[in-house]
Amino acid sequence: MKKVLTVETTSRTQLIDITRQVEKAIQSEGIDDGICFLFVPHTTAGITINENADPSVKADILMVLNKIVPWKEAYQHLEGNSPAHIKASIIGASEFIAVEGGRLRLGTWQGVFFCEFDGPRKRKIYVRVV
Ligand code: ZN
Repeated sequence: MKKVLTVETTSRTQLIDITRQVEKAIQSEGIDDGICFLFVPHTTAGITINENADPSVKADILMVLNKIVPWKEAYQHLEGNSPAHIKASIIGASEFIAVEGGRLRLGTWQGVFFCEFDGPRKRKIYVRVV
C-alpha cells in the first residue's frame, strides 16, 4: 500500500496529531497487519511519536525546541530558516509502526505527530504499509 497524506499547517511551529488520518488511510486499503512506514519529504518538517492525551506535552516539546534552537543566531543559510532545518534533523523524517487489526500498534498514550517548523504550509506525508 502506498498513499500520500496532506496536512495544512497554520503556525510557524506546530505539532499536529495525524494518528487517525494514518489509520483511516490504512483501513481504506483493507490492510489488517503489517509494518507502516511514514516519511515526511520536507527539509523543515518532521514526524515523531509522543503523548497525545495531554496537549501541553506538544506545547512543551515546541517550547524546548525553540529554546535550544534560537530564531536569531549567526546562521549562514541565506533563506533565513536554518532553525527549521535544524529542528527537522533533531526530530527526524520517518517512523515505523506495527499495524495490527487495521490499527497502529501504539502505546495507550502515544500518538503520531506531524511536526511543522517553517509554516504555515501545505505538507505531505508518505505512507507505506508492507
Ligand atoms: Zn532553507
